[in-house]
Amino acid sequence: MADPQTALRQLPAVTTVLATREAEALVERHGRQATTDAIRKALHDLRQTYLPSGGSALARERAPSPSDVAGSAARLLDTLSTLRPVFNLAGTVLHTNLGRALLAHAAIEAAVAAMRHPVALEYDLDTGTRGERDDHVRSLLRELTGAEDATVVNNNAAAVLLCLNTFALRREAVVSRGELIEIGGAFRMPDIMARAGADMIEVGTTNRTHAADYRNALNARTGLVLKVHTSNYRIQGFTAEVGARELAGIADAAGVPLMNDLGSGSLVDLSMHGLAREPTVREAVQEGARLVTFSGDKLLGGPQAGFIVGDRALIGEINRNPLKRALRVDKVRLAAIEATLNLYRDPDRLASRLPTLRALSRTSGEIHAQALRLRSAMAERIGDAFTVEVVDCFSQIGSGALPLDTLASAALSIRPHGSQSALDGLAASLRRLSRPIVGRVADGALLFDLRCLDDADEPAFLAALSERNADRP
Ligand SMILES: *Cc1c(COP(=O)(O)O)cnc(C)c1O
Repeated sequence: MADPQTALRQLPAVTTVLATREAEALVERHGRQATTDAIRKALHDLRQTYLPSGGSALARERAPSPSDVAGSAARLLDTLSTLRPVFNLAGTVLHTNLGRALLAHAAIEAAVAAMRHPVALEYDLDTGTRGERDDHVRSLLRELTGAEDATVVNNNAAAVLLCLNTFALRREAVVSRGELIEIGGAFRMPDIMARAGADMIEVGTTNRTHAADYRNALNARTGLVLKVHTSNYRIQGFTAEVGARELAGIADAAGVPLMNDLGSGSLVDLSMHGLAREPTVREAVQEGARLVTFSGDKLLGGPQAGFIVGDRALIGEINRNPLKRALRVDKVRLAAIEATLNLYRDPDRLASRLPTLRALSRTSGEIHAQALRLRSAMAERIGDAFTVEVVDCFSQIGSGALPLDTLASAALSIRPHGSQSALDGLAASLRRLSRPIVGRVADGALLFDLRCLDDADEPAFLAALSERNADRP
């Protein structure tokens, strides 16, 4: 057996690694400087790995070959980009921190085409004169929601801000105390009101708000009445709220527009896909709200965007607000939005084409079968220190859509034979892969909810797990 210190010196030199065929390929792709840096880093990491044993672990095992080190360097270069794909096995479909909705194939194609070629973004091809950006989605949104007119901005937060600023600047905006929402990421209704320049007039109480509360608050300074969908919570028990239809009547009588912020909103009745009902945008329009706002990347399943649909005259005023220009969407997203909305014209095939709806409507039986199929391959790759079981679990929809409604699902549950810290170490190492795997820890087990693992992604998932072993001493 080699002496430990000598063993540490057996690690190959940078120049030796650079001379391998693998490293030559890296130089071709990433350049000599970046490749050399990555090899140095890989060798440094290996020394750190073997140092606690004074090199005796290395003396017992085969020393990493120059090719092995080049392989580690390749993985380091792969992980340089921090905004890279991950596996979302956390059990939340519309995970805000993981980018919410995945785009449909048609939307991706449209976005790529808009990146690659000039597009008639603000150009009327019929007349050869200047056109309007919103025209690409206006008629689709009118058709899908029944509203007179529509516009699109950066996200729903921007949509709410723009409506408030257009109609309640230096005026009053009336809202129920039961609907003063905070959405993750610092979207708080009172703060948005303040930044929009509106005086917030709170009415009612946390649990009960009545028609008279709104009527008493309306006056000559009122610019807007708000109805806000309590996306991420429910008030239960001794409660009262004024429905959108009745509130629209009250606002109309005072000559003030009602804005209904639906949050997620949905363009289709989700109960047709086995989910709980969420108010549709069409219903909100029919109930009489003059303006309805909703997100593009929640249940709608498109890119980040905020839609405002409603009365033509009001949308016209919004479009004349200089802030609109600051909040508009670019051509790439607009192309993806148009393609996504187009899918809604064919509701029969929506669930197979829209990844969000496909993930949400997968049955627990189907996911359970997938978990059984992957269990042993996973156990093999995770190693003997853990047991892998198939367990029942519940997925969340996420992004504040249907907060109390969970979906029966199945997960691979990983438990350590030894200490809990082994599990934390495993979870951390899986987050460091070139395509990280994100799960959740519950009751001392690491859970991988497979609802969001597309069948087509299974080989990539298993390959990612194998990569972990490649860097093990
Ligand atoms: C999510 C949500 C918003 C913010 O929408 P983003 O698209 O995330 O900006 C605003 N209001 C409600 C009710 C929401 O649920």
